Amino acid sequence: MVIVVLIADCFMDDMKFCIENFGCQMNEHDMDKMASLLAGEGMQRVEDAKKADIVIVNTCCIREKAEQKFYSLMGRLRDAKEKKGTIIGVTGCIAQMEKEDILQRLPFIDFSLGPSNIHKIKKAIDQAMRDEPLLDFSENGCNESLLIRPGYGQDSVKAYVTIMKGCNNFCTYCVVPYVRGRESSRDSRDILQEVAALGGRGIKEVTLLGQNVNSYNNARDDISFPELLEKINAIDGIERIRFVTSHPRDLSPELIGCFGRLEKLCEHIHLPFQSGSDRILKLMNRGYSAAEYIAKVEALRDRRSGIAVTADCIVGFPGEDEEDFGKTMDLIERIQFDGIFSFAFSPRKLTAASTMPGKVPPAKAFERLHRLQKLQREITLSRNKAMEGRTAEVLTEGVSKNSNEELTGRTRTNKIVNFRGPLAMMNRIVEVAIVKGYANSLKGEGAKLKEVQAC
Ligand code: SF4
Repeated sequence: MVIVVLIADCFMDDMKFCIENFGCQMNEHDMDKMASLLAGEGMQRVEDAKKADIVIVNTCCIREKAEQKFYSLMGRLRDAKEKKGTIIGVTGCIAQMEKEDILQRLPFIDFSLGPSNIHKIKKAIDQAMRDEPLLDFSENGCNESLLIRPGYGQDSVKAYVTIMKGCNNFCTYCVVPYVRGRESSRDSRDILQEVAALGGRGIKEVTLLGQNVNSYNNARDDISFPELLEKINAIDGIERIRFVTSHPRDLSPELIGCFGRLEKLCEHIHLPFQSGSDRILKLMNRGYSAAEYIAKVEALRDRRSGIAVTADCIVGFPGEDEEDFGKTMDLIERIQFDGIFSFAFSPRKLTAASTMPGKVPPAKAFERLHRLQKLQREITLSRNKAMEGRTAEVLTEGVSKNSNEELTGRTRTNKIVNFRGPLAMMNRIVEVAIVKGYANSLKGEGAKLKEVQAC
């Protein structure tokens, strides 16, 4: 994923900037944090990238495709630099992975900051203006970067809150522990203060973010993740709680129990399984078997019937044969996921899997991926059709992309619903009768406000 912040003008107090986001919620949230810091300096956000005098590219190297997109964008930015002297900075995972070497491939950039150093964005721009490039990839700034609070739009009712960063798991395909560092959790008092402030200013839904939220505070003398959820559940104003991402191995009985008793915790979990073959799971260093994964999903469904389960899955991992792939397909049939983000394996620098034997030819990996995606499309459609005739609670978020006459929002199970309703229903919680289930969304009718109105 690639995120671009563009800032026009060379004097901080009247600079303009714009943000283009491509990527995961963690990166998007980091970008919002940088934007908030720059807005705090009096800079103004603009949409048109071409008008920018400073470009910050916030990067991701989780997948090869995102990295390719980054380098192709940088080619275009080099032209902008040559033509009008645009200041260009790189932040995020590619910055961290390449460190000083980034200057060999991109000698024209003016600064580069790892994800733990995004709080230094103003300093980096200041120095770039003085022609003193700042390169900072140290890990000791991670707590400061965790503490930055992004700004939210006046009418926003949803917010993300980072509770931890980094990962200690070292799945053999994943570069996160190398570029985002080891796990580091944020103090619970600070998180609770932030969420209380959000509830006080009208935010209805919070999503707690971290590479592996289930291991929040594993290494600190502070409350556990289930205890944190319990405390957030008691905060006035907050009506929905979500979290992402969860590692199946760390999904404890206590956390599963939260779905049975915390009414604000939404009925949705994103629980990547990656493969249905125990042999491949072992090669991936995932730390659970397919049977253990299935048992945890069943426990979740016992605690909260109707809970939606989504996941990530990798096809064509080194050594994967048809039998392994068949087990992945079996697991998908068995669980009946609401949705899956599926990818063909791409080797990432620094990771153990990049040098593993048994590479699956790309054509074979993509053929398997297409089969898997076809199966999942059918399952998603049938799960969405099963919603027909039911009533769903929806938090409206805006006008539908498909029709100006429709509003759009998400159910507690994180499904998109489009429905006719007055603009006064925007950013409110409504009840909607589901009349049609499609592959990617639901159609609703007869929306009614759910909230009790103050007189
Ligand atoms: S748990 Fe997630 S972030 Fe951590 S190494 Fe594994 S895939 Fe990467």
